[in-house]
Amino acid sequence: MQSPDVIIIGGGIVGSSIAYHLTEAGCTNVVILERESHQGKGSTGKSMGGVRAQFSTSESIKMSLYSIPFFDRFEEVLGHPSGYRAQGYLFVATKQKHLDYLCQNYQRQVAAGLKTVRLLKADDVAHIAPEIRNDDVLGGSFCSTDGFVDPHMAMTGFALKAAERGVQIIRDTEVTAIHSDARGVTGVDTNNGTFSSRCIVNAAGAWAGNLAGLAGVDLPVEPLRRMLVPTEPFDKVAHTSPMVVDMSTGFHYRPEGRGILLAWNDPEETPGFKLNFDRGFIEKVLTRGVDRLPCLDEAEVNPKRAWAGLYEMTPDHHPVLGEVKSLPGFFLANGFSGHGVMHSPATGRVLADLITTGRTDLIDAGLLSFERFASGNLLHETAVL
Ligand SMILES: Cc1cc2nc3c(=O)[nH]c(=O)nc-3n(C[C@H](O)[C@H](O)[C@H](O)COP(=O)(O)OP(=O)(O)OC[C@H]3O[C@@H](n4cnc5c(N)ncnc54)[C@H](O)[C@@H]3O)c2cc1C
Repeated sequence: MQSPDVIIIGGGIVGSSIAYHLTEAGCTNVVILERESHQGKGSTGKSMGGVRAQFSTSESIKMSLYSIPFFDRFEEVLGHPSGYRAQGYLFVATKQKHLDYLCQNYQRQVAAGLKTVRLLKADDVAHIAPEIRNDDVLGGSFCSTDGFVDPHMAMTGFALKAAERGVQIIRDTEVTAIHSDARGVTGVDTNNGTFSSRCIVNAAGAWAGNLAGLAGVDLPVEPLRRMLVPTEPFDKVAHTSPMVVDMSTGFHYRPEGRGILLAWNDPEETPGFKLNFDRGFIEKVLTRGVDRLPCLDEAEVNPKRAWAGLYEMTPDHHPVLGEVKSLPGFFLANGFSGHGVMHSPATGRVLADLITTGRTDLIDAGLLSFERFASGNLLHETAVL
């Protein structure tokens, strides 16, 4: 039986970042257990790769203020690329209430220390995204350091660096039981043997609720399907374009390869482990898309290249970070509600801080604790795409 100092369950971008940050803190006797034959088969490999600091709460903004510069220096520090491209996020407002919302968020972002965000007039929006229909556009907001990363590359970078420093990544290994005694967690059973440790981290993405259930913890993280549609090569949108978000419908797009990637949050989607791509979604996203981006009418879409993945939703759309007080040694890094890639660096830092020192100065971790659900002290993030 192996007895590492820390067991991380789940080898996606979050588990990999936690492992890397633990090694930064001097903790290298760490094992990642991943049930798949390779990493990235969960939500990390399905992500749109967007990174942004344009959020509505200080905690989300602080997570981005650590994470985005981290992605910028990723290759320098880890020796592997993250694919970070600072092309920005443009929020396009067509109603006064959107402008008021962006203005309120802007003030919070600036107060938190973000220097690269600005509010825009309608003409500025037309300048940044000349391809969109702008007859009803009132203004918007733009942050030049927002942009995209390659989630698979960043995950691999974290994992390779952690492995170089001694972290063991054990694949084809599914955790099937979590054990504890009066002092806290003691270890796990898997299809590949048992592992003992007084510190176990749940980094199981959309499956985190099931995993927490094995430890007797009722974690409110629900899987919610999200679908993405890439176009075939298409030159009507510049490959330097930012992520453009139409606030009137939630439709958003960004350049991807030689085409663009189309997304929309279907309000009719219901929770569940649905991983099939529903072809009916193509018409839904194109209807919203052509309305804001008329040239999309000329783009071609191949349904076989579209895909579905899972968001891991919490009731307040903030992650759950830190130790479960009633079960010492059981740490959670779950429920990113669509922001797990962009916030993976900060999550790794916070978890490594909490595991090795019991505290962190990066965020107010108490606000994102598991216990907030029982006490009803939820902190709602509304800037969710
Ligand atoms: C379509 C789509 C678009 C998205 N766009 C963005 C975006 O633009 N920006 C952004 O920041 N985020 C985005 N996200 C969200 C982001 O992808 C996730 O928040 C992030 O990947 C979560 O990473 P993770 O490591 O926690 O989970 P995962 O990548 O899902 O990894 C969890 C791992 O745990 C393993 N596992 C589960 N149970 C067990 C077990 N019992 N034993 C062993 N292993 C287990 C799984 O196999 C999996 O590999 C998007 C998601 C989707 C689906």
